[in-house]
Order: sequence, then C-alpha cells, then structure tokens
Amino acid sequence: MLKIGCHLSSAKGYLAMAETAHSIGANTFQFFTRNPRGGKAKAVDPADLAAYLARAEELELAPPLAHAPYTLNCCSADPALREFARNTMADDLARLEAIPGAMYNFHPGSHVGQGADAGAALIAEQLNQVLTPDLHTTVLLETMAGKGSEVGRTFQELRDILDRVERSEQMGVCLDTCHVWDGGYDIAGDLDGVLEEFDRTLGLEQLKAVHLNDSMNSRGSHKDRHQKLGRGEIGLEALLAVVEHPALRELPFYLETPNELPGYAAEIALVRERCG
Ligand code: FE
Ligand code: FE
Ligand code: ZN
Repeated sequence: MLKIGCHLSSAKGYLAMAETAHSIGANTFQFFTRNPRGGKAKAVDPADLAAYLARAEELELAPPLAHAPYTLNCCSADPALREFARNTMADDLARLEAIPGAMYNFHPGSHVGQGADAGAALIAEQLNQVLTPDLHTTVLLETMAGKGSEVGRTFQELRDILDRVERSEQMGVCLDTCHVWDGGYDIAGDLDGVLEEFDRTLGLEQLKAVHLNDSMNSRGSHKDRHQKLGRGEIGLEALLAVVEHPALRELPFYLETPNELPGYAAEIALVRERCG
C-alpha cells in the first residue's frame, strides 16, 4: 500500500494529527517538532500520546516523519547557535523515542561563508555528539535547493557529512523533489540518471523518505519555492513517475505543497488514483 501523507500542524497534538491524516486519505504525516522558527517544544501529553498510538495502529498509519525547525543550523559560525541546534536536536530525539518507527528530518544547515566542506565537518560533529546508542529514531539529512550557503545541494555534500558520522547506521536521506530540481538535478527528464547518481554517491539504501513537491522555478534556480503538484516546472507526470519508480515505491511520500487540507486531500487522491 502506497504510503502518502502531508505536512500537518501539530498544534492540537498527536491524536488530532492521526485523525486529520485519516480524514484526508493519508496513511502517514509529517509535523514540526516545535515552532518552525524555533522556540520551546510543548510538553508531551501522555494521554494524547497513548490515544495516538492506539488510533495509529487502528488506522494502520505508517510512522510519522518529524521535521526539525528551520532555524536549527548545525554549521553556524556562531558556537552559541550550534549549541542551540545541538540541544534542540537532542531534545527532539529524546521525545521521539515515544513514537516507534518515527524518523527525524532536518536541513543540514547553512555554512555562512565557511565553505561546504567546513560546514559538513561541523554538521557531522553535531551528529556525533547527539547520536547515542540508546536512540532508535532514524535521522534524515534533507536534500537542499542550494539557496544561499545551504549545505546539501548536491548528493556529494550529503556524502561528505555521512562519511564523518560515526553512528551512520542511525542516519539516512530524505529526497525533496522541489529541492533537488532547484539544485539542478533533472528528475523530470532523467529520473533514472538522477537515481543512479544518488546510488553511486550515497547508496539508494540510504534513501528513507521523499518530500513530494512541484517547484515554482526552473531547474538549477536554487530558489526553494514549492508548488502544487502539476502546477510547477517539474510537472505532474514527472512527479508521479517518482512515486511509481520501482526503487522508490516502498518509501513514504510527504506533500509539502502550498495547500490547505482540501488541497492536500485532492493531491493524495490524485496520486493514489494514478499510482495505486
Ligand atoms: Fe524541509
Ligand atoms: Fe522538504
Ligand atoms: Zn523547501
């Protein structure tokens, strides 16, 4: 069964997200672990958590994908900001232990002029401090559009991080279709070629989730502006081909398109109708 969901608000708790996901035809979902701009996470309500776990099982929801706040920059030049990123990630992962099978996705960071390689070293240093053997959540590096000084605009930049992570078996990659397109990869014209490059550079077994988004901008624009499926430069057929690709079919897909719930419901229905 195709695993597809979208980004949901976590404001009303876990059970509400499960019900919302189900109501729009989703069987998984993504959520921010805290305000996307940073700040403190709300305390977990044990009753909500227990009700969620029971309901998720009943509805046969696949485990959710937690997304770190955007403000987290593991390769900031400022040690205080790196410490904030480290503490936030450690706290997020501690909470996620309550949700079996959940994964945690984060933007590798912006090297702010230090260079991509120095950035990769700082990101790996953070991960080496945060990842401990008692944690069960798989941590995903997201492929980035390469806006500003973002690290992760190429598969090789992600490889450079993973190569330096000691507990790399706790890591994986989340491929964002808008980001890789904006980063220059031709997923519309040569999906097989892009996936072959991914496999050569990172190994397809590292790919654990897909953010399914169209892009407002042309390939290589490094802009990162998501668009509704079929309304952007990647196009509907190319995005459906991603979902149907034999190497990707078992992965969970998450929409981060500019939609309210009815729009998400329509996109999920469309993908299900076309891709099973
Ligand atoms: Fe993201
Ligand atoms: Fe994304
Ligand atoms: Zn994005």
